[in-house]
Amino acid sequence: MPIYAYKCSACGHEEDAMQKMSDTPLTTCPACGQATYTKQLTAAGFHLKGSGYYATDFKNKPEPPAPACGTGTCPACTG
Ligand SMILES: [Zn+2]
Repeated sequence: MPIYAYKCSACGHEEDAMQKMSDTPLTTCPACGQATYTKQLTAAGFHLKGSGYYATDFKNKPEPPAPACGTGTCPACTG
């Protein structure tokens, strides 16, 4: 079941709600009771913390070895 992040624009209350896709989105803020409670675009739990996450990940991966062609004449074969 997906988790949705909700935020109230009136009082700033934030809360995650576990709902089915078919469930009606919540509109009433549980903190102040106003109908200013809206679903956020990004669901909690899907945040990628740190912008350099992917760059670091790729940098640490070793280069794949060049495939040898089998003729013994190319740099991959002769080493
Ligand atoms: Zn509120």
